[in-house]
Amino acid sequence: MTAHSAPFPHDTEAHLAALRGARPTLWLNPDLSRERPDALAAGGKSISLADVQQARARFRRFAPLLARLFPELGATGGVIESDLVAAPALQRALDLPSAHGVLWLKQDHLLPVAGSIKARGGIHEVLEFAETLALEHGLITLESDYTALAGDAARALFSRYEVAVGSTGNLGLSIGVMASALGFRAAVHMSSDAKAWKKDRLRARGVEVVEHAGDYEEAVAAGRRQAEQDPFCYFVDDERSLSLLLGYSAAALHLGEQLRERGLAPDAAHPLFVYLPCGVGGAPAGIAFGLRQLYGPYVHCFFVEPTQSPCFVVQMMAAGEGNPSVYDYGLTNRTEADGLAVPRASELAAQVMRQQLAGVLTVEDDTLFRLLHLAATTENVRVEPSAAAGIAGPAMLTGTAAGRAYLARHGLDAVMHQAVHLAWTTGGLFVPEDEYQRFFARGAALAAA
Ligand SMILES: *Cc1c(COP(=O)(O)O)cnc(C)c1O
Repeated sequence: MTAHSAPFPHDTEAHLAALRGARPTLWLNPDLSRERPDALAAGGKSISLADVQQARARFRRFAPLLARLFPELGATGGVIESDLVAAPALQRALDLPSAHGVLWLKQDHLLPVAGSIKARGGIHEVLEFAETLALEHGLITLESDYTALAGDAARALFSRYEVAVGSTGNLGLSIGVMASALGFRAAVHMSSDAKAWKKDRLRARGVEVVEHAGDYEEAVAAGRRQAEQDPFCYFVDDERSLSLLLGYSAAALHLGEQLRERGLAPDAAHPLFVYLPCGVGGAPAGIAFGLRQLYGPYVHCFFVEPTQSPCFVVQMMAAGEGNPSVYDYGLTNRTEADGLAVPRASELAAQVMRQQLAGVLTVEDDTLFRLLHLAATTENVRVEPSAAAGIAGPAMLTGTAAGRAYLARHGLDAVMHQAVHLAWTTGGLFVPEDEYQRFFARGAALAAA
């Protein structure tokens, strides 16, 4: 193994200056472990592959019910999953040479029901809450046919409860839609920066939208306070929830099958690089946790954040000491990537990632729009700005000094021609056409400039 002789880029004044100056930069995690993790500490608990499998088993128990509640899930029998597709035209447009590997897209922007990666964690937590209630009240056993939960007894039970959440938009969409489909009352606390169409879509489904003048963090805090006063209100806490994180983690098992089917299973000679857009950190941390459980040192997970909202990297740099915000760094938390506009990261997600995350890169909004436009023109892939962030990953890794230092330190230079670069496209399905056209036009103008 390579000696740790060179200083880590994150130690340098240059990295801090870039972060404070809202310039794109790549931070490498000095605490990344080279082992496949066994169990990991998460809040007061310990989580392992068994928890990932349990989350997937829960989705399977609910699949027949979901197929009944959502006609769009008929074709998959109630499974909410996305495709893994190669992106050769996008790879060429990005100037990523085949000597550096092959680019793939994990298309969560097409996930049914929620239209974003939040279909994984958000729906899982609502299902877990519904299952717990139904088990407690003797309406089902773990072996039951869960379509019974569409019946009158279950709906009468669920209607006594409210499910609430604080959200920049997409989490509210997934939770609000699933909770109201099961018969819960649903309330979504939203920040002022949440998009109007997301609020409209929720209201159309009978979800109560509570608007807050402040940012995402304040919306979550307000929702949490309100829920604490009502024993029949269940609050999905995006900053602290293990159920959310484990719901996301189940994606790793399905992705594992997709990689195997395509002959892409990672090993020492076939590294897998995964680039995950990061907001509060629950979604990318859950997925990275699951993937590291499966592949250990052969998978390299990088999170991608907007230059004005790099909450996860400042949390990782704090290394467990405190819960810093991007405002502390003189940043604005203003970004068009509304799914990522989070000032302070989940400490739970950061704890789970302490030795699992390879690094964090930051991207400017202009880059997101350029990549959004490029994804559309090369691969006919229609994503929202947040979801384009991962596409910036391969260039940052193979084209910067910090990225090349990472590859050298891990002895990867000789096998990069066999690498898989997987950009996780995290949302976009339900973006209204006029809004999408504005995004596309902004990207087109930047491309022409
Ligand atoms: C929520 C979201 C993310 C990031 O998930 P976090 O759990 O907030 O880190 C990424 N992309 C999109 C489109 C999202 O909605």
